[in-house]
Amino acid sequence: MSVERGIGKVPERYRHMRMEDLVRETERVRARLGDQVAILGHHYQRDEIIRFADHTGDSLELSRKAASVEAPYIVFCGVYFMAETAAILCSPEQRVIQPVIEALCPMAEMASRKQVSAAWDALSTVWDEPIIPITYQNSNADVKAFVGERGGAVCTSSNARRILDWAFSRGGRVLFTPDEHLGTNTALEMGLSESEVGVWNPLAPASPETFSECRMVVWKGFCSVHTGFTLEDVARARAEHPGARIVVHPECPRPIVLASDASGSTSQIIDVVAKAPAGSTIVVGTECHMVDRLARQYADKEIIPLARRECGSMGLTRLEHLLFALEGLASGKAHNIVAVDPDTAAGARLALERMLQ
Ligand code: SF4
Repeated sequence: MSVERGIGKVPERYRHMRMEDLVRETERVRARLGDQVAILGHHYQRDEIIRFADHTGDSLELSRKAASVEAPYIVFCGVYFMAETAAILCSPEQRVIQPVIEALCPMAEMASRKQVSAAWDALSTVWDEPIIPITYQNSNADVKAFVGERGGAVCTSSNARRILDWAFSRGGRVLFTPDEHLGTNTALEMGLSESEVGVWNPLAPASPETFSECRMVVWKGFCSVHTGFTLEDVARARAEHPGARIVVHPECPRPIVLASDASGSTSQIIDVVAKAPAGSTIVVGTECHMVDRLARQYADKEIIPLARRECGSMGLTRLEHLLFALEGLASGKAHNIVAVDPDTAAGARLALERMLQ
């Protein structure tokens, strides 16, 4: 059986299957596997994947689901940090499979444990108060482990404010990784001034004294999808759809959030759309697969993408990859198991459990 080389490699025969055959074969093997498998699909996945997902959600919802499903195999259609989180939270007997194991979130790759540890050490030389590290869910397990070991917590875009409230209530200062924009948007909305929020560039760190007056330092990482929206996109949407409500994700830079009418996590955006009255127009600034699906689901409203921005990493997983993963399980061979070493998992679990509590 020849296997194609490169990202998302599957045996040759899958590459030549028509979509209707892929769908039929996936339905067949899915039915055969029954409750041996739970398929989790992030909202940014392609429609061909979402139609087979037993559970869809944003990263927080899927983390919770991974911790509660009982199937021996969790097939996680998303990006690597999500599957890692599932592997950390599920029971030791369960196995997590990622159909395209190379699907990484570029933002998560922008912070390593070594870099975060160096930032921590540098800030420790100028901050007398305890440093509470907070990491966005979109980070790799080694960074989550560092955060857990140092008394910090994971946050998502849904709960960043509550987690930061918790951190500040402990009387410390915050090192926030890896998304500059989620950290900055949340901090400013909580009432911190711009001068109280510093930006740590891991590729060219400024001297620690630069941050001595900051209450929070955010990592210079970003999501290429959400930083791709521009003020011109907002102006065009206002001109073309007067009266429309513009809602964007808090991974967007501050000027985009300020120019919009609201910002919220993936699940909060879905909530805004669901609760809007029939006939309303909502312009949504997030990944376009999800916006397209909302537009179909809420056909009594006009749901328009702020601009078509697609996450290439999320888009890597196609139906042939899911079929290959499921057929592997049906024949007793698990491909692309995601595993986290026990020490890293223990530290990361601390940070995740603090969030889930
Ligand atoms: S949408 Fe952005 S944050 Fe989410 S996986 Fe893609 S690059 Fe990462």
